[in-house]
Amino acid sequence: MKRIYFDYAATAPTDPEVLKAMQPYFTEKFGNPSSIHSFGQEAKKGIEDAREILANFIGASPDEIIFTSGGTESDNFALEGVAYALKAKGNHIITSAIEHHAITEVAKFMEKHDFKVTLVGVDKYGMVNPDDIRKAITDKTILISVMHANNEIGTIQPIAEIGKIAKEKGIAFHTDAVQTIGHIPVNVNDLGVDLLSLSAHKFYGPKGVGALYVRKGTRINRFLHGGDQEKGRRASTQNTPGIVGLGKAIEICKLKMSEETALQSKWRDRLIKEIPARIPDVLLNGHPTSRLPNNVNFSIKYVEGESMILHLDMLGVAVSTGSACTSGSLEPSHVLLATGLTHELAHGSVRITLGRYNTDSEIDYFLNNFPQIVENLRKMSPLYEKK
Ligand code: PLP
Repeated sequence: MKRIYFDYAATAPTDPEVLKAMQPYFTEKFGNPSSIHSFGQEAKKGIEDAREILANFIGASPDEIIFTSGGTESDNFALEGVAYALKAKGNHIITSAIEHHAITEVAKFMEKHDFKVTLVGVDKYGMVNPDDIRKAITDKTILISVMHANNEIGTIQPIAEIGKIAKEKGIAFHTDAVQTIGHIPVNVNDLGVDLLSLSAHKFYGPKGVGALYVRKGTRINRFLHGGDQEKGRRASTQNTPGIVGLGKAIEICKLKMSEETALQSKWRDRLIKEIPARIPDVLLNGHPTSRLPNNVNFSIKYVEGESMILHLDMLGVAVSTGSACTSGSLEPSHVLLATGLTHELAHGSVRITLGRYNTDSEIDYFLNNFPQIVENLRKMSPLYEKK
């Protein structure tokens, strides 16, 4: 059976070139990067080269990059690290209602430990209004965290505008750029951010490795306690093969990004146009234009998201409903609810995220088969009968 992967926002396969670059660091170049002998220095060079590649790519300097175990750790590190470092100054954090759980869950945890959190809402497209951020600021606000683009609905946020507000008020500003790095241009100075999270497996690097950018002068507590790795900011022996893979993945994105963005936006726009033309009663989730080039998200009325996923899976097509991290839970997506959808519409969402290895014929295959799946499921739906 033909297998088609349309779930790149959940994770992407490791690019074969990335794997090739990583392999020597498991075997010949296995040294501990903190060791001063040649084995250690060889591993250290791999890490420092990757740090430089990543820093250049996002407009940072290498010593502003801390390697981590992925997006979740970078998000937790940014929130807890900055909040505890600035606790004497204030205890108020502002974030948005549509953040990934790697932010919302740590924010909830911190609320139990003397911090106050304001969740700023979004409009029907999932867009944060910078004025709402401004209004939420108090004299106790020490940190603002708003994601660059949403993982479920693809809406790209006005980060540069929020950055200006944060700078004017002297408040640290973090963005979760896990879904944007390698997909759209990201420059920490253009965005005006002090901290930025990223994760290699979303841009064809390996899983379990990421980074946190921290602008020079930003106060942040160390996250893992132990050795002096990462200039004492994050203990534990670095994941050398993973970090080398992250660097290689960035190098490839640098070469391919504009071409890939153009192709994926073309497929995205075709799906956004043709799904409603072929299936009645559907609703596009996310912003019509300020949107990731590879994200399509529709609510299909009278049908459950899970049923669509299972039926597409039987045809070999992998898509998702809401975020992969929350599937398995019966709660509808907090992101879709924040945009004002009813529980029924939120449950009926299907997310198609495109990537490097998709083809025109896969888009055709999806468009030719999906309407029939929806029609069959609607025939079984009591809600559809009552329509
Ligand atoms: N932030 C966003 C926006 C994400 O999409 C994800 C993963 O889905 C994460 C954070 C967590 O990243 P990781 O899986 O590397 O921990």
